[in-house]
Amino acid sequence: MMENLLIKKMEDLIEKLNLYNYHYYTLDAPLVEDAQYDEVYYALKKLEEDNDLVLPNSPTTKVGGEILEKFEKHRHLSRLYSMDKAQNYQELMLWDERNRRALENGDENFPEIEYVVELKFDGLTINLTYEEGYLVNAATRGNGIIGEEILPQVKTISSIPLQIDYKGIMEVQGEGLMPLKALERYNETHSEKLKNARNAAAGALRNLDTKVTRSRNLTAYFYNVSYITTEEFKTDVEMKEFLRKNKFQINDEIYRCSSLKEVIEKIEHIEKIRKDLGILIDGVTIKINDLGIREFLGYTNKFPRWAIAYKFEAEEYTTKLVGVNWNVGRSAKVTPTALLEPVDIDGVTVRRATLNNYDDILRKKVKLNSTVLIRRSNDVIPEILGVVPSEDETQEIEKPTHCPACGTELFQEGVHIFCPNTLSCEPQLISRLTHFASRDAMNIEGLSEKTVAQLMKELHIKKIPQIYELKREDLLKLEGFKDKRSDNLIKAVEKSKNVYLPNFIYALGINNVGIKTAYDLAERYGNFSDFRRAQFDELVEIRDIGDKTAEEIVKYFKESHIAEALDKLMDLGIKPHYEQEQKKQSYFSDKKVVLTGTLSMKRSDLKKQLIALGADVVSSVSGNTDLVIAGESPGSKYAKALELNVKIIDEQELKDILGGRDGI
Ligand code: NAD
Repeated sequence: MMENLLIKKMEDLIEKLNLYNYHYYTLDAPLVEDAQYDEVYYALKKLEEDNDLVLPNSPTTKVGGEILEKFEKHRHLSRLYSMDKAQNYQELMLWDERNRRALENGDENFPEIEYVVELKFDGLTINLTYEEGYLVNAATRGNGIIGEEILPQVKTISSIPLQIDYKGIMEVQGEGLMPLKALERYNETHSEKLKNARNAAAGALRNLDTKVTRSRNLTAYFYNVSYITTEEFKTDVEMKEFLRKNKFQINDEIYRCSSLKEVIEKIEHIEKIRKDLGILIDGVTIKINDLGIREFLGYTNKFPRWAIAYKFEAEEYTTKLVGVNWNVGRSAKVTPTALLEPVDIDGVTVRRATLNNYDDILRKKVKLNSTVLIRRSNDVIPEILGVVPSEDETQEIEKPTHCPACGTELFQEGVHIFCPNTLSCEPQLISRLTHFASRDAMNIEGLSEKTVAQLMKELHIKKIPQIYELKREDLLKLEGFKDKRSDNLIKAVEKSKNVYLPNFIYALGINNVGIKTAYDLAERYGNFSDFRRAQFDELVEIRDIGDKTAEEIVKYFKESHIAEALDKLMDLGIKPHYEQEQKKQSYFSDKKVVLTGTLSMKRSDLKKQLIALGADVVSSVSGNTDLVIAGESPGSKYAKALELNVKIIDEQELKDILGGRDGI
């Protein structure tokens, strides 16, 4: 291939993979199935190998995805890696041969190679730090060197030991998972369904709202100690024994094998019992047991050479399509769901499948009563791949002309159809109001989706401002609302009026404006009335805001009913605030601040406050740190601050400064 053609092809694949990675690792909402991702990944890898050329930004040389700003950062004490994969037994043998050759060429005396075969859990990597017997930190894998701090989220997993016998410093890796039973129960009791246990676990652990994390009833299994100060292990088996003794949950499906033949038997055994495990796995991992051999073989810049993952092939199933449901969501999009004759896939009964839009139905030639092919993916609702020819009589699926919920005539934009009745179409309103009340938005506690639906039905709430006109006596008339619940809801609604500008911007639910963009917009405009008048040209100058988002924002404020609702909200006393001015002259301006120990204020609130005052709140102490705020029983950060002579203040001094008194 010509050099520039080759580079162009590689760049296209890299761009695609980066987009998939962003959705998978950063948003926990993958765009494509793993099998499709792997296909593109291996196409790139093959091009790289055949041409001996790797572009500097290639995902084949990097671990994981982008680290989100909303989390504090944690530098792992020891690097975390991805894992090389074998697609078939032959690749497994090649891996084994490579290792044996490397060992033969060395001059050290190692024991016979033994392998440890265990489950490859499909959830989110968690890296836990213990100091003096206590769990002091938890982080995601991130890019392998730096992860996102998720300690409060991890603490919601009841099987994780908060205190252990081992008293040195250690980092342990495991996988956070949502058990399939927990997913099923969750979906039975929540109207917003979770699609897949992997994303449900990853999304919960990377959610700032620990109530969400807790509600998912996660579990975790552990498999590695990557850093430890005083203990030495000779083998993986010894390491797992140590973890067990310290009360970490280790899965029982773990086997020590002395040959590849045995390894393959175990792989086949695990594939067979996979559906009875109750958790998601996407294959098995095969690791060399002896840690001396591991050290000798070492790592590439992405994988350990001493371990490999054997991924299970996605199986395909057939069933009959018995109907199509059209649903309308917050964005007014009307989307089809296929109703299937129930089919059992890995212990989960699948009754529905995704059909992205009407074009998708036509392209895949899906009709009522046709036999359809679905792939076992990890999704609760799998996607329809296509149809299998059959003798059965079939019937065309009709494209709806009117909204299934409110009957308004639909319109088409690109491949999607929309319901224009954004003002009173019920499902749209329910999801919009629920979003408005959610934690990162107005944070109105008690206003769940179920309650919103009840208020709409029984109190005829149709517009967001009406939430602020709710009366205690009206609530008392509703089923399930006694004095306390009514008072609490009224209080929560009242409290939400004093909202932080970024949360208010996010609450509006403007297309493409997530919480991070909302923060950027607040920072640029500083107050809501200026933001309302934002011009396209100004918006596109903000970092990370593209044409599409800028257009959506301008279009949003132009709508007359939205302008009316916003005016009404302001009249009802909503006061979005943002302390840009204060930030300029605050004590904390441009100071690198570290928090340690237990503080009486909620850490996330304090952090928000400090950031608003201009501080850069970071997670570890270094020579650049300006200030350490130390609460009760501060940990190693405190010791480091003393060592580096960084200024330390306690909570009382902090309160004095925040309260405007001249404590320093
Ligand atoms: P990986 O799947 O290659 O394997 C490494 C990870 O496996 C570790 O970080 C660890 O968390 C986990 N793991 C589970 N059980 C383990 C055990 N017993 N021992 C050691 N590690 C264990 O991780 P990766 O590099 O993040 O992901 C690559 C894979 O993720 C791809 O093959 C693809 O299938 C999927 N992916 C999919 C998309 C998509 O859009 N669908 C995007 C990116 C990645």
